[in-house]
Amino acid sequence: MTSAATTPSSVTVRVPAKVNLELLVGAPRPDGYHPLSTVFHAVGLFDELTVTPAPEWGVGVTGQQSLGVPSDGTNLATRAARALAGHAGVDEPVHISIHKEIPVAGGMAGGSADAAAALVACDALWGLATTRHELELLAAELGSDVPFLLSGGTAMGSGRGEVLAPVLARGTYHWVFAVSEDGLSTPAVYAECDRLRGDRSVPEPEPSAEMMTALRAGDAHALGEALHNDLQAAAISLMPALGDVLDAGLEFGALGGIVSGSGPTVAFLCEDHEAALDLAVSLTASGAVQDVRRATGPVHGAQLVPAPRPL
Ligand code: ATP
Repeated sequence: MTSAATTPSSVTVRVPAKVNLELLVGAPRPDGYHPLSTVFHAVGLFDELTVTPAPEWGVGVTGQQSLGVPSDGTNLATRAARALAGHAGVDEPVHISIHKEIPVAGGMAGGSADAAAALVACDALWGLATTRHELELLAAELGSDVPFLLSGGTAMGSGRGEVLAPVLARGTYHWVFAVSEDGLSTPAVYAECDRLRGDRSVPEPEPSAEMMTALRAGDAHALGEALHNDLQAAAISLMPALGDVLDAGLEFGALGGIVSGSGPTVAFLCEDHEAALDLAVSLTASGAVQDVRRATGPVHGAQLVPAPRPL
């Protein structure tokens, strides 16, 4: 533990959103979970989370994406902070301020990102120096996307997505995100996927050679072709307008388009920065999309923001 003299008064962490470049979903196991094979990719849409010692646990959310985020103990960031406190035997409540830029219930793992950020922030605030392995174990208990948001980059996920393995990935990719004002519930999208599949037998999910080759080569065109999401049909079935959004982005020249995770955010891959700017303008002008954002990937996972130096 740090001494009181060196304990920071607050700690801020920046954490990115994710898209799944490939999301392959197996048949549900007896415990109800679907085995996954996925390629996570962290992109530069960021939430910023600050923890400050407080007399009681609390959470506040600001930013244009704050609607629908709980400001009580059910917030995933609070659950993460309390899980770390329990694990380390710390009895020091914090107030958590979250500035949200990651779309809520958009398939970009915003809640999981905040949980990862809270783990990193509280670890620093309390001076715990928890090992990366222990943080990853706590993260996996909080949600299957949380471990990836600790590390970021581009990585393969199996199991429920929480078992991570490195991927040899080259290049920087330029993305345009079509963000919907309405969210989609992740369990509802999985249920719809099962319903659409009916009795069809589903193969064990395994990473595709096309995806691995595209990433290894750093080839945006090949990556655009290889993007695949088994949940896409289910997300479109629940929100048919997503099909029109995908068509519009591809017509306007995207190299590829995909529903992000369980949706409804749609991610478009572009040739370069200029092409992404053009696509963002075209999509906005078309009226087919409620909100458009641009970002590059891969980016780092949850990271401390250095405190401003006193003047
Ligand atoms: P995933 O891609 O991991 O399936 P998502 O991106 O679709 O998730 P989130 O933004 O993580 O969805 O939010 C899902 C729900 O979780 C929200 O509707 C909200 O009620 C709840 N939630 C709890 N904590 C948070 C948080 N810190 N930020 C956003 N949502 C949160």
